[in-house]
Amino acid sequence: MGFAVGVLPGDPDISHSVGACYDRTANASDSFMIASDLRNGVEQLGDMIAAASTIVPFTGAGISTECGIPDFRSPGGLWTRNRPISFDEFVASPGARAEAWRRRFAMEPTFAQARPSRGHRALASLYRAGKIPAIITQNIDNLHQASGFAAEHVVELHGNTTYARCIGCGRDYDLAWVKQSFETIGAAPDCTLCDDPIKTATISFGQAMPEDAMRRATELAQHCDLFLAIGSSLVVWPAAGFPLMAKNCGAKLVIINNEPTEQDDMADLVIRQDIGETLGPFVGN
Ligand SMILES: [Zn+2]
Repeated sequence: MGFAVGVLPGDPDISHSVGACYDRTANASDSFMIASDLRNGVEQLGDMIAAASTIVPFTGAGISTECGIPDFRSPGGLWTRNRPISFDEFVASPGARAEAWRRRFAMEPTFAQARPSRGHRALASLYRAGKIPAIITQNIDNLHQASGFAAEHVVELHGNTTYARCIGCGRDYDLAWVKQSFETIGAAPDCTLCDDPIKTATISFGQAMPEDAMRRATELAQHCDLFLAIGSSLVVWPAAGFPLMAKNCGAKLVIINNEPTEQDDMADLVIRQDIGETLGPFVGN
């Protein structure tokens, strides 16, 4: 399908992929509802969760900040200090590959120590209760799996940084093996099967979006009655198209984020509060 990670709202590529339910103008709310305070937000969310039969959450960096995972895109975040290495640079330059791996190894204590937040645990509770069939995430930190979601029920739009994959044949590698090889040969290791570069199993800027994940996310968004957009500023396309798609297919849309998002005016309920505080009451339900 030729998707690439981008930050342009209205990326025209999205309209080819999402079928009849995508129309930015179709269902804009005349006046969207912002919860007046935390308690009011939790109450309204609880009512909507109780009324829903199929809930699809869509999560971004905000759900993991409580776990010590930085939001790379935030002001002062890693990506404003270290320019991201694009997929083309990674493929073309051994120096870029080495730099990418040095950065990843430097982050390893952060990722290795992170544990699921209240938000992760609340969603896992609703998953175990049968309300959530699967989850869509922009996050690469593996924390939905750690909270109890089966791996096949986590649709990762931007991949996963907790293991590595050959960009040629797709063979998976443990990070520990990559690190040991890097230290032994003094450079980023290549695939032992096909000699192509090995990269974290994430989707880099300029890299094609994973077709299977995009297809599954589309199906989930189109077949739910409550869509929860949590901790995403909804600016990275095409991922940001899914809340709108769900809304236009008839789902209620709730946006939980401590900052305004690009799509608040499309939502049935906006909870502009701390995610852990908002979802904490739903842990264990
Ligand atoms: Zn390979």
